[in-house]
Amino acid sequence: MLATNGRMKIAIQRNGRLTEDSVGLLRACGLNFEFQKQSLYSPCSNFDLDVLAIRDDDIPEYVQDGVADLGIIGENILQERRAKVNRLAMLGFGGCRLMISVPLKSQIRKIKDLKGLRIGTTYPVILKSFLNANRIKAEIVKLSGSVELAPSLNVADVICDIVSTGTTAKMNGLRTLCMVMESQAVLVANPDVMHDKNKRKVIERLMIRVRGSQEAGGKRYLMMNAPANSVQKLKRLIPSLKSPTVVPLAQTGMVAIHTVVAEDIFWDVMEKLKEAGASDIIVVPIEIIIR
Ligand code: ATP
Ligand code: MG
Repeated sequence: MLATNGRMKIAIQRNGRLTEDSVGLLRACGLNFEFQKQSLYSPCSNFDLDVLAIRDDDIPEYVQDGVADLGIIGENILQERRAKVNRLAMLGFGGCRLMISVPLKSQIRKIKDLKGLRIGTTYPVILKSFLNANRIKAEIVKLSGSVELAPSLNVADVICDIVSTGTTAKMNGLRTLCMVMESQAVLVANPDVMHDKNKRKVIERLMIRVRGSQEAGGKRYLMMNAPANSVQKLKRLIPSLKSPTVVPLAQTGMVAIHTVVAEDIFWDVMEKLKEAGASDIIVVPIEIIIR
């Protein structure tokens, strides 16, 4: 019944590192749905799309086979599964690296030193093409989890695993040797949906919102009051303040300045703005910018 109710579906990770940001992105796109980690299926009340929450490993095949029309999945899983799906957008969250790590005390210094060793990983497909590209013959030991323990259990000599900060590797007496791939979350689509006129329309509507939300990412709307004669000085402080909206205030000689700034730039210059005469500085988040 679920697969045949005719509504479009987007598959996201049910409970894991991609869940919060995936739900956040869909909400930022204005989609209204109740999301509970235990429920498989959440219909959107205001958009022709339902959210399917499943294990991330299943998402590439589900989208490839058309069980879901769209999916949000890590590039790492996507490449490992070699699923035939279309990439619609890189999403900028879920960032991590697939790295080869070696025991701290080992003599291994460069990629070539991996020759003849056993490499433990849950990413045999990606690792194989990396080794081939580097013309290294090594044994790939397929593992299903707890990869970082493999060297101390002597199941493998070195490992190839996802790293975001490197703390887990260090805790297990490992140091990173080289990067195999860099990953982030990707929005993917079933290759056939674009041939369906109605589905394509829904995806196009969604993509305008996704791009709008990405455009807004890290940006803030900045409002402040300042003496009219300090506008030039303020512009020099915030290079992106090329064409701010400047509105006269009731108080003569004072103006309100409105503009969009990158969040990190704002923190760098906040004190200087005050020194230059700005007051009542207000910074508000931006959800979407449609160009
Ligand atoms: P599931 O139960 O859905 O199979 P999982 O345990 O396989 O979950 P998570 O650990 O939640 O998966 O990771 C999901 C994705 O998040 C990874 O495939 C990767 O793309 C991304 N990711 C970001 N940072 C990390 C990290 N530090 N470790 C592992 N994955 C990360
Ligand atoms: Mg998984």
